[in-house]
Amino acid sequence: MDGIRADSVIKKFGEVRALDGVDVEVNGGELFFLLGSSGCGKTTLLRCIAGLEQPTSGRILFGGEDVTGLPPHKREAAMVFQSYALWPHLSVERNVGFGLEERKVAREEIRRRVGEALDLVHLGGLGERGVDQLSGGQQQRVALARALVVRPRCLLLDEPLSNLDAKLRIEMRREIRRIVKEGGLTAVYVTHDQEEALSMADRMAVMESGRVAQMGTPETVYRQPVNGFVAGFIGETNLVPGKVAEVRGDYVKVGTAAGPLIGRITEWGWRPTEGEEVVLSVRPEVWRIESPAAGSRVTGRIIERTYLGQRIQYQVETRIGRQDVVEMNPHVVRDPGESEITLVAPHDEVVVLKP
Ligand code: ATP
Repeated sequence: MDGIRADSVIKKFGEVRALDGVDVEVNGGELFFLLGSSGCGKTTLLRCIAGLEQPTSGRILFGGEDVTGLPPHKREAAMVFQSYALWPHLSVERNVGFGLEERKVAREEIRRRVGEALDLVHLGGLGERGVDQLSGGQQQRVALARALVVRPRCLLLDEPLSNLDAKLRIEMRREIRRIVKEGGLTAVYVTHDQEEALSMADRMAVMESGRVAQMGTPETVYRQPVNGFVAGFIGETNLVPGKVAEVRGDYVKVGTAAGPLIGRITEWGWRPTEGEEVVLSVRPEVWRIESPAAGSRVTGRIIERTYLGQRIQYQVETRIGRQDVVEMNPHVVRDPGESEITLVAPHDEVVVLKP
């Protein structure tokens, strides 16, 4: 299994620097995500990996081999797009086997490999069907089978699930992960959906304005964000500004509009000093309403409630601004405007960041 590397990749479109010095290393057999808001450069990076775009400078390597100058078909990277680009008038089998027909692979060999690819995506037995007689999820599986049948060195996926409804999207997340792992593939997956990335990725790169803001496992990126941008992009968070009052070991006491709050320093080598301006990142699920445990406390009043069954989202007005709060498995449903409540956040779960 080959890994993929982007080495100081810059891509300019006229004045626009779509990629501004990107270094990314994807290990062989990894399901790697490129994540970021619209226009941050993730599709451009994927297209540079595929060979559909030529970097202005920098290199793309597959398994240590420099493929920067190679055209797409010589890189043996298969791409799956948001629009499946299937031929509606052809059968599933013909759609999947088309790439092999073009490569003049023998008919028996095509039949065998198409069968294997359809089994892998759990569409065995539907080969004769017309593509127009399939559901959206089945069509996505055909697109995957078509990509896999050529035995690519890597699989590149550009928002492959965005045309599916919410329920199918969740089912296909598991399926794509299974297919990548069972097929022993190295895969790069582009999305702006942070939940998709968190739930599927081995590792991910969060991109901002043509650069990689942070690379790591979902858990690292969620729990140890490098800055406020990443904290806010991966999951929801409340960012609370303040000034460092005291640093003790890995914990920092920060003076805020609601008095001192304590947070933890992340592992990225930066240590704030006394008097420095910082922000605290408090996830909505980290705030507890009136928990007896020790932690940073803020009083406030509930101004909005969204009931979602297994969780309730509240907005709480406090002296450090409106806080988003999520209660999991709630036993009590609190009413907005109720008397004053106290929010408590365990020190370990509050993260101190550069402003
Ligand atoms: P989205 O999620 O909206 O697809 P993205 O993160 O994939 O966004 P890119 O499509 O990579 O972003 O675009 C990055 C930047 O490069 C944007 O500012 C975009 O307008 C610009 N860009 C992309 N392709 C071209 C092109 N062919 N010509 C000119 N500018 C381009």
